Amino acid sequence: MTTVPGRLVLLGHPVEQSLSPTFQNAALRHAGLPLRYQALDVPADRVDETLRGLRATRGAGNVTIPHKRVMFERCDRRTDVAERAGAVNTFWHDDEGRLHGDNTDVPGFADVAAPLLLASRGGVTPPTALRVAVLGAGGAAAATVVAALDRWEGCEIRLWSRSLERARALAARFGGAVGAVLRVEDAVGDAALVVNATPLGMLDDEMPCDPLLIRDGAAVVDLVYRREALSRRRPSTAWSRAARERRTAWVVDGLPMLLAQGAHAFQRWFGVTPDATVMREAVWGSRR
Ligand code: NAP
Repeated sequence: MTTVPGRLVLLGHPVEQSLSPTFQNAALRHAGLPLRYQALDVPADRVDETLRGLRATRGAGNVTIPHKRVMFERCDRRTDVAERAGAVNTFWHDDEGRLHGDNTDVPGFADVAAPLLLASRGGVTPPTALRVAVLGAGGAAAATVVAALDRWEGCEIRLWSRSLERARALAARFGGAVGAVLRVEDAVGDAALVVNATPLGMLDDEMPCDPLLIRDGAAVVDLVYRREALSRRRPSTAWSRAARERRTAWVVDGLPMLLAQGAHAFQRWFGVTPDATVMREAVWGSRR
């Protein structure tokens, strides 16, 4: 990026539960940058008006549910990763006022899943025919698929969603390595890496699949986290806790990925890597 942002925001609806302001503001302070990251609750019918204001102030920031797709459409320029994911979660303006979009969920997911998978395999590099199960067929599922295809050459990805049609449509964007399945057990049963990319678990009620379906020793990434149940000792959702207790030690909830995608976004806005420890500790500090 060429222009230091005049404003830094999170666009979503709702946004009050977001942890992004907590760790981004800590990173800004630590880096000595005189900006404040602000969460803006923007309903769908106010996205364009908000973007006009952000263009005038050289605004940059993140995008969360439900605006990642509309932001993709509004951007003048998109990174290759955002193109393939079909969604934008990080944006900024250049000197000419053009709106740029990236998808840092992709490297954020890879940063978290790759070491977890390696650890689950006792440090042995994953095989070329690595099996990955992705539950869900929305924007986060697409980001996960892009990351997996880039990271693990020759991997096979099985998508399961409550709508087979939507899972098929997502699979069709990526070619033969990605297939849609009707039954969740056909995705999860022999997968070495299982990813929850649905919102199930946010309310601590339903689980994306029966944890008993997960193969012994598989790595499990739940993109969901429950803010009120965050703990340094165990993952915060019922599904990820159950997976850890029953089958495997290689389980994380959505917090590590949230921090990782935020660090990649910070790098995009300012050209410098933020302090990961400062960001993480800001989250834990906010819980005291
Ligand atoms: P999305 O585009 O709305 O997609 C959600 C997917 O989950 C869709 O396939 C949807 O199916 C399915 N789904 C929704 N409710 C369901 C239910 N009750 N039962 C079964 N399936 C259901 O959302 P997204 O952007 O992909 O985000 C998914 C989750 O990932 C969210 O909780 C989000 O917060 C989380 N996320 C976390 C991070 C992180 O950094 N930790 C990053 C990105 C996303 P239909 O198409 O049938 O509605």
